[in-house]
Amino acid sequence: MNDLIHKGAWELSQLMTGGQVSSQEVTTACLERIAQVEPAVAAFLHVDAERALELARRVDQRRADGQELGPLAGVPVALKDAFAYAGAPTTCGSLILRDWIPPYNATVTQRLLDAGLVILGKTNLDEFAMGSSTENSAFGPTHNPWDLERVPGGSGGGSAASLVAFETPLAIGSDTGGSIRQPASVTGTVGVKPTYGGSSRYGLVAMASSLDQPGPCARSVLDAALLHQVIAGWDPKDSTSIDAPVPDVVAAAQRFDLAGLKVGVVEELGGEGYAAGVEQRFAEAVALLEAGGAEVRQVSCPHFPLALGAYYLIMPSEVSSNLARFDAVRYGWRVDDDGDHSVEQVMRRSRGAGFGAEAKRRIILGTYALSSGYYDAYYGSAQKTRTLIIEDFAAAFEQVDVLVSPATPTTAFKLGERVDDPLAMYKADLCTIPSNLAGNAAASFPIGLSPQDGLPVGLQVMAPPLADDRLYRVGAALERALEEQWSGPLWAELARREERP
Ligand code: GLN
Repeated sequence: MNDLIHKGAWELSQLMTGGQVSSQEVTTACLERIAQVEPAVAAFLHVDAERALELARRVDQRRADGQELGPLAGVPVALKDAFAYAGAPTTCGSLILRDWIPPYNATVTQRLLDAGLVILGKTNLDEFAMGSSTENSAFGPTHNPWDLERVPGGSGGGSAASLVAFETPLAIGSDTGGSIRQPASVTGTVGVKPTYGGSSRYGLVAMASSLDQPGPCARSVLDAALLHQVIAGWDPKDSTSIDAPVPDVVAAAQRFDLAGLKVGVVEELGGEGYAAGVEQRFAEAVALLEAGGAEVRQVSCPHFPLALGAYYLIMPSEVSSNLARFDAVRYGWRVDDDGDHSVEQVMRRSRGAGFGAEAKRRIILGTYALSSGYYDAYYGSAQKTRTLIIEDFAAAFEQVDVLVSPATPTTAFKLGERVDDPLAMYKADLCTIPSNLAGNAAASFPIGLSPQDGLPVGLQVMAPPLADDRLYRVGAALERALEEQWSGPLWAELARREERP
């Protein structure tokens, strides 16, 4: 189990710096693994082997020339297919963007390249990042490596699955309502949604602009922190980017003590609708935090139960506006094949054929919520609810340093189980949405396998805006305590299963 594909980014970085292994060897190992497991996992929409090897060759050359390189130089990374990568297909999981090849890089993509990371390819997602299972991808679902009959979460199921399929040590996600944290939770990986404005949205295909946030995905807390540090920070190309120093997430991920940290357990995120196995692992993890020196108390956030409803008005409203650009003229697939070539007909046919059912549902909901006569009742009241949730967080963070909850109410569900029940699908984000509405930092960390079904469970940590470092402090201490219990990381169980005859 000690081969290159199981090593984390930090370990690989040290091996490369020490000259024991080259980036080309690491990249080749990942590409071979991708070729081996993709038929079963389907985490990638596009693998850019040639360019990846060329990027690796260049890093090896720079290292051989004695150039000063960042800690992740030469480490492979997978990019959610919602981020523009010049010259590579960027479909966002949609037929309407099937043939779009962006001429520019997203800021996140550019920062990865500037730091010498090796982009392996683009990972699968629900169409336009709308969903909790990757089943809304126009190109077929991704499978969860813990159980191939189950979903890897969504929308960033491809990024999360690629980590525990050992195709890559690092991946990039984007989180609008939980799309980094919920897949992390159901795949037993680490996923972080930075403070809104903490990482740039430039070149991320927009879903709901006031909620979208790029973030790191990894198998370990330190690896996520190293990736966070590469992609975060002010960007003049994103008007909502925050011009403030990036919190020292890497130092926080190496601290391992919780002494004096005040932790609030959110009363409203648990109980009915939560799987018993999830609640059990969550309670055990909270006890571990307490044993590690944290002061734990219950905290009420009374408006959190309203968050899902508010999100499903605000998000579709923004979706209906953002997706208007896919008009078959400026962007998108053009269906232009019968006699009527009027602009309206071409747009209608192209959008009708190019968007899947979930995207259409949200465009219709959002257009309705914003229409005159209904605006105040729907969008307006949802915005007021959003303010109440921001106030809940502010009041809670006067009492405690971080809040915790399960990351999602259940473990990974079966493929197909929720496709015909949008409400059941939406409930996967009950715990994650409040932090998108309020814009604070939040993460999911693996806390074991559910005793009910043997599938991964995640704990969510929420911190005030620009206190992203606290997430990593909690995550690192928790990871260390759990790895002592398990004599290794959670994902090692998956690697062992593969080794068994
Ligand atoms: N599952 C949520 C949704 O469908 C969140 C998606 C996301 O964060 N991109 O909207």
